[in-house]
Amino acid sequence: MLHVTKSFLPDLKEYVSYLERIWESNHLTNDGPLLRELEQKLREYLQVEHVIFVTNGTIALQLALKALQVKGEVITTPFSYCATSNSILWEGSTPVFADINPISLTVESAQIRAKLNSQTKAILTTHVYGNAGDLEEQEALASEYQIPLIYDGAHAFGVTYKGKSIFNFGTISTCSFHATKVFHTVEGGAVMTNDAKLAAKIKELRSFGHKNDDYFSAGINGKNSEFHAAMGLVNLGHFEDIRNYRMWACDLYDHLLQVPGEAIQFNSHIDRNYSYYPVLFPNEASLLKAVKTLNSVQINPRRYFYPSLNTLSFVEKQSCPVSEDVAIRVLCLPLSAEIKEDEIRLISDLVNQCFN
Ligand SMILES: *Cc1c(COP(=O)(O)O)cnc(C)c1O
Repeated sequence: MLHVTKSFLPDLKEYVSYLERIWESNHLTNDGPLLRELEQKLREYLQVEHVIFVTNGTIALQLALKALQVKGEVITTPFSYCATSNSILWEGSTPVFADINPISLTVESAQIRAKLNSQTKAILTTHVYGNAGDLEEQEALASEYQIPLIYDGAHAFGVTYKGKSIFNFGTISTCSFHATKVFHTVEGGAVMTNDAKLAAKIKELRSFGHKNDDYFSAGINGKNSEFHAAMGLVNLGHFEDIRNYRMWACDLYDHLLQVPGEAIQFNSHIDRNYSYYPVLFPNEASLLKAVKTLNSVQINPRRYFYPSLNTLSFVEKQSCPVSEDVAIRVLCLPLSAEIKEDEIRLISDLVNQCFN
């Protein structure tokens, strides 16, 4: 069985060497030495001032909204994983969906502007597939309306925009380090910001809102363990090799696939991380045919991201025609640090036969 992704696992010996340190320190969780080391290494690698390692990428979004005290309308993307809009709902706010660009699949800045009003408390959008929209324009919009800009960077680990980490944009960026992501800590995520006060608030909220013996606020448990930090420390050392391998795989797909119509385009200012290989089919019927054909030979692509989040039964009805159209036509093909050339050739042959 070949799945849409295969989690990277390092050599067991490498991981065990970190486990030995846990056995020596007997420090299993709660701001331990490996967590601090991982946060430090991520700060250096990503060139962001504050990296706060948390339980997962969803709690990272919730901590961001909570720390910024966002309550009200949040302008967001309909084309993302449901964790993006669910985190807004879970924090008691209302997602307002701004439609996407049909080529980049990121939110169109003009659509954000059209939805901004006095009830808007934040913008929270996604660097979907590690792609970037017009970040400067979005930052300008947020500062014009004096509201925070949060980026769900769950797909964007290692992506740079005009030479610096994409996590430097916006008030806060979050990332997911889930096992299916391009860099992972099994379960995990991070909140990143260049604002020291916000970082301190997020650290407080991550740890029940409890500091010292006598300080309490309404926090949550968003802490992550030494075992997860250890996986991150090992995997970080392999990230560039993983990225290069995935780049090779994506280039081969690009070369072999004969996608009709307009292909998805990545922002020319970014260095990609090759986190996903999305293909835009001419219609849903051809996509379903490809899924069936691939499944029949034990290959499992995934409909990332389907359905368009504005059509979920538990959000207020809003129209986003571009996202709705893309969501029924987009399919992610298998991509991992281990996928073989003959597998990519087979998948490409089968998919090409479904385009017409
Ligand atoms: C994976 C993902 C998340 C959630 O991350 P978890 O670590 O699984 O909680 C959030 N947003 C997007 C866009 C994702 O793809």
